[in-house]
This record gives sequence, structure tokens and C-alpha cells, in this order.
Amino acid sequence: MTARRLLMLGPPGAGKGTQALRLLKKLGVPQISTGDMLREAVASDSPVGREARSYMEAGKLVPDEVVIGVARERLAQPDCADGFILDGFPRTVAQAEALDEILEELGCALESCVALDVDEDALVERLLRRAQIEGRSDDNEETIRTRMQEYRSKTAPLIDHYRRAGVLVEVDGLGEIAEISRRIEEAIGA
Ligand code: AMP
Repeated sequence: MTARRLLMLGPPGAGKGTQALRLLKKLGVPQISTGDMLREAVASDSPVGREARSYMEAGKLVPDEVVIGVARERLAQPDCADGFILDGFPRTVAQAEALDEILEELGCALESCVALDVDEDALVERLLRRAQIEGRSDDNEETIRTRMQEYRSKTAPLIDHYRRAGVLVEVDGLGEIAEISRRIEEAIGA
């Protein structure tokens, strides 16, 4: 059976968003990107946006209670009833525990956590080169390094959380986009 309640996990720049988009076309379930929702909140200068802005600009994680509130509201929408692809949430153990509770309240559970396995050092190099080519400032180099550190210290422990829950599937995230999609689809039985 194809998993329809999914979570994409991986370091910044690993291609989570790209793969989530390809998958949603195939599965017909919504992609839930807290990064996109927070960027919209910042753009509209909502109370959530005002809280999140400075953290996002520094490449730091937005406080758990803010992000959990955003995710809780989104997951309760009717279009998530038949499945969803979480992209960029949860990013801390506290968020993962909150997600478990939210899903229990909604009467469902996560079916697969797809962890994209990529070499983090190679990823930093690639992101830094891209930042240089696109002529970004040094600020961005610092932001990239901060985001990677945030991933290592706060998000990477989720791999164990989902391994223990028995829903972890690890997928090699290096290679052509279409090939990686094929690996993910095979792993989730799509
Ligand atoms: P993304 O587009 O997913 O890389 O997210 C961009 C930025 O939004 C991150 O660097 C964080 O500042 C913030 N953000 C998005 N999702 C979360 C989350 N689950 N927890 C904390 N901060 C988040």
C-alpha cells in the first residue's frame, strides 16, 4: 500500500522541496511547507510573521511554539484528511512530539519518514558556490553555515525518533532528480 502521510527529512539544500513537489503530483495530497507558510506570514506582516522574521533572516530555527501553531492549523484543514507531505516540519524533537500528538488528535499517524541521505560537506560547498555565482553577500555564507549547524544539532536527531517509531526510510539523495524520485517512490510503495 502506498504511504500517503509522509514527511521529508534532510539537510538544507538536499532537495526536500523539489522531491515533495514531484511526489504530490503523483499522490494528489498537499505539500505542507512551514518555510513557505512562514515566508508568506513575513510578507504579509502578520503577528506570526513578525515573530518569525529575525530568526529566518539569521538562518536560525523559528521557536517551536510558533511553528507548531502554524502546522497544527494547517493539518486540521480538510484537504489534509486523505494525506499530506510534510516538508520542513518537524525540525526539532519537540516539534516531532507535538506532531505525534496532533496526528493522534486527528485520528491518524505518519506512515513514512523519507530521510534524504546526502553528504553534508558536499552540500555546504554546493550552496556556497551557488551563493557566490548568484552574487549574494557574505551574510548569506554565514546564514548557510548557521542553517547547516541548526540542522546538525536540532533536526538530525529526528532520524532516530522516526527509526524508533518504525517509519523511517532512508533514501540516497545524490544523483539525478528523476532517479531520486524513483528511489523515493519505490521506498514508499508508490
Ligand atoms: P525552509 O524553506 O524550509 O528551508 O525554511 C526557511 C526558514 O524558515 C528556516 O531557515 C527557518 O528559519 C524557518 N522554518 C521553516 N520551518 C521551520 C520549522 N519547522 N521550525 C523552525 N523554523 C522553521
